[in-house]
Amino acid sequence: MPESITISAKTLGAAALPDFCPRCFWIQMHTPGLPYQIFPGIFSSIDSYGKRLVHGWFDRHGSAPPWLNRLGDIRGYRHPPHYSKFSILDQETQIILRGTPDGILVMHDGSHLIVDYKTAKFTAHQDVLFPMYHAQLNAYAVIGEQRGFSPISGLALVYTEPITDNATTAKDANLTASGFVMEFSTHIQPVDLAPKKIPELLAKVREVYDRERPPPSRAGCTDCEFLKNLVELAGK
Ligand code: SF4
Repeated sequence: MPESITISAKTLGAAALPDFCPRCFWIQMHTPGLPYQIFPGIFSSIDSYGKRLVHGWFDRHGSAPPWLNRLGDIRGYRHPPHYSKFSILDQETQIILRGTPDGILVMHDGSHLIVDYKTAKFTAHQDVLFPMYHAQLNAYAVIGEQRGFSPISGLALVYTEPITDNATTAKDANLTASGFVMEFSTHIQPVDLAPKKIPELLAKVREVYDRERPPPSRAGCTDCEFLKNLVELAGK
């Protein structure tokens, strides 16, 4: 039996990207606490703000905000559990998969729809990060089915984008006594349910993790070469 390893749904999602680098993944998994991984907290603050706005609207009006209506007949929401409770152990790979979805909506038939908020501009062209988000949401679906949210009937990304055009900056209402207001527009992107992809990704992660040495550098990425030159230079 291999040692169990724990990964987040988002980390699993990285393995679905077309430019996934097994070497990078191996290094990250085997050296927790690597430096240079600072992520600006403002994005998670905005995602959290959007989630609280939605829940507050439900609590006050008993219905979904109008911009969520395109997802169907939504009747309410459930508070997403902490990742320590929203996790499963995959017996095949001995991987503990966990995470915390941004939102879990309850549909008219009692099924659940999982949403994730992204503070980003939605582009008409294929979003390069979409394979990662797709896998992340489907990992939540697999976990949710086993952790009290069955059935999961849908998944969606909610892109929130700041509106910064000249007309908006010219509005007096956006300047307040204490600062300023920034408007956001939303774009809802339904994501197909494909839970059968998750076992494939878990197997890929297990295979990379179990290698005794870091895999070779990804073709086309020169950063490892730069690092090697830097280390040689520092050793002189
Ligand atoms: S090849 Fe590029 S992506 Fe892979 S480990 Fe090196 S720097 Fe990271």
